[in-house]
Formats: sequence, structure tokens, C-alpha cells
Amino acid sequence: MSRSLEDAGLRPAEEFVLRFPHELSGGQRQRVSIAAALALEPDFIVADEPVSMLDVSIRTEILQLMMDLREKRGLTYLFITHDLSLAWILADRLAVMYLGKIVEQGTAEQVISRPKHPYTQALISVVPSPDPRHLAKRTILKGERPDAVNIPSGCRFHPRCPLAFEKCGWSADEVADELRSLSAGGLLPEIAGIQVQNPGTVAIGIVPGMTPGSAAANLRRVASENRDSRLALKGIADIRENGDAIRVTLQAWEEPVLVELEPGNAVACHLVTPPAESVPTVTA
Ligand code: SF4
Repeated sequence: MSRSLEDAGLRPAEEFVLRFPHELSGGQRQRVSIAAALALEPDFIVADEPVSMLDVSIRTEILQLMMDLREKRGLTYLFITHDLSLAWILADRLAVMYLGKIVEQGTAEQVISRPKHPYTQALISVVPSPDPRHLAKRTILKGERPDAVNIPSGCRFHPRCPLAFEKCGWSADEVADELRSLSAGGLLPEIAGIQVQNPGTVAIGIVPGMTPGSAAANLRRVASENRDSRLALKGIADIRENGDAIRVTLQAWEEPVLVELEPGNAVACHLVTPPAESVPTVTA
């Protein structure tokens, strides 16, 4: 049974701050922190990156101490880490988060040995192997993790997902940026301007003297030829003339939700658990 801070003779949590003497090493500080946490006789401990700042030689000692305490005291840890190899060794169950949402969860065996979400697969592909003969194909995610206050639409992983496709949540801004890049590269000489009209439409102006029909035809061809290397182009559902301009309509999308694939193993990805509506043929 857990005790309250008062039961343990301690002040309330907001006043309870551990102050370490400077002469304590990182490992000693972690031991003091663990002892302080155990003073309340908890059943459950949240350990947020408990060994990430420690020297490798000290890490094993602290982890062994935590595992021994788990056995002796029947503790449950919520272990937060960026080190998947560590999670694999320590955890019974894993949950992989991206930008604040769980994208895959299951037993350590399910998640590490048979990862199904592209983010989990990419994380596992870059875990170093001590065997130099083990030449795994590494998936290096492009770009930076987006700002958490500006979460991408649809699947929040889609701007970096190497497998992202039509339904994954491409925004009009992403499609417009890709079209501007193609235009800057000289592939769309008939195009004079690209503007986001609304969340589902991009409007494109035509260079004077060019016909919207030939400009739209060239845009369709270029978008189709480049969609495998510029994935945002997969967000295009339709390209057609609209008076003296061209209207680009975007694919409908939805956010993937966690779906249980087998007991205890759930994944949030349209590739694994397709949205209700089947993916239409791309016209671009
Ligand atoms: S839904 Fe799946 S395929 Fe689409 S972006 Fe997200 S992780 Fe990638």
C-alpha cells in the first residue's frame, strides 16, 4: 500500500525538492532519487529517462538496482526512454509515441520483433548492432520533428513517413510548396502563381499566352512522374482547368486510430488498418 507524503513525514509534493550536494556523482544522485521515491512505498513509479545522463559503466548498476527493487517490492515502472534497445530488455509492454500520441503498443516481442508502424520500423532500423557483420537497412527519417503546437493534419507522422500515401493527411500548404518547388525547378513553365485557396484546394495561375488545357495536362504529367519522390503530390486527387486557371483538389484524409490487430498489439496506421473507404485511383 502506498503512503502519502505526510505519512512519510515529508512535505507536500510541490515543496519537496531534492537538493544534491555538488560532490555526488550522477550515479549517486540517481540512487538518492530512487531512495526518495521508495520512501513513499509506492506500487508504481514513473521513471523518465532514468539513466540517459549516466556514464555507460554506471547505467548497468542503476538498471540492475531498479530491476532488483522491482522484484523485491513488486513495483511497476512506467519507463520513459528514447533507447529502444533498453526498452526491449526491461519492459514487458511497450508503447511507441510520436508527437504525444501512441502509434503502436504491444508486448516487447510484438513491437520489437514484428514492428508494424513505419515510425517504429524506422526507430528499430537505426538501433546500433554490436555485430559489424549485421548490415541492417537503415531508415533515416527526413526533416525535423514538427512543432508540437502545430501538429500536422491527418496522420501526424505523414510529413516524415517514407510510406505516406494519399489518405495520410496532406495539407494544401504541403501540396502548394511541392508544386512551387517543381515550378522553381523549371518543370512547370506554364504556371505563373500557386495559391492555397482553402484547406482542400490549390489555385494555379497560367502564364499569359498559355492555354489552361495544356498547362493542366503538363501539371498532371509532372505530378504523376514525381509523386514517388515528392510524397506530398500523392495528396492531389484531381487537376482540372477552371476558367483561365487550374484547380488542384486534394484527397480526403482522416487521422488513423489505434486498432488492435492481435491481443494486446495495437497500431495506428492506414497501411495496417485501412480507413473505411478504399483508396481511390490517383488521377494526378
Ligand atoms: S498513416 Fe501510416 S503510412 Fe500514412 S503517414 Fe501515417 S504512418 Fe505513414
